[in-house]
Amino acid sequence: MIKINKRPLPEGVTITREEDYRGGIVFQMIVEDCRGKCYLCEDSVHTAPNVEHRISHENDAALKYDWNNLLLACYHCNNTKLDKYNGIIDPTKVDPEALIDLSLDLDEELREKVIVRKISGGRDTDITIDLLNAVYNGQNTDMKKYSCQQLKNKLSNELSWFRQKLEAYRANPNDANEAVIRQEISDTAIFAAFKRGIIKTVFHALPLS
Ligand SMILES: [Zn+2]
Repeated sequence: MIKINKRPLPEGVTITREEDYRGGIVFQMIVEDCRGKCYLCEDSVHTAPNVEHRISHENDAALKYDWNNLLLACYHCNNTKLDKYNGIIDPTKVDPEALIDLSLDLDEELREKVIVRKISGGRDTDITIDLLNAVYNGQNTDMKKYSCQQLKNKLSNELSWFRQKLEAYRANPNDANEAVIRQEISDTAIFAAFKRGIIKTVFHALPLS
């Protein structure tokens, strides 16, 4: 999860029905501001994009059509969150990476597991951590287990590839190798929080800024 900078809606654009955010300029802005990624798992959302209400909107039209409450999510995360995790942090206002550290590790049975570690924060950080654990490590149903495994496989491949690029940079710290890494840790890259976490915690040869 990373910070999302949402632009204000252009003058004259309003959201008064579902169709207003499921298409047109509003949907386009949600996709662009979220960099085409799910705001929860940080995977790309090229199939089954969902417009997710950060605060559950049940029986509350104001929240349902509130621009600030609309974010891009994948089907897996939207379907994991439902209305069960009210009170998560607002990534348009706070930087999730200052509160939560994400890494891919092994569990006691040597299966890959996402470690969601609290850096600081209050109850909203705890709720977000519970949600991220369900998003990456959920075991509730076979279907959920399967989609979490697919997500972790993709994350694992992406991070192995990233480590190869770090290795290339370490062996030869030239501009071209640095540019590849800078791209991979930019907000537009998938799983950017994990990659920046690797640099912050273990790979100090390349300062983040
Ligand atoms: Zn997701």
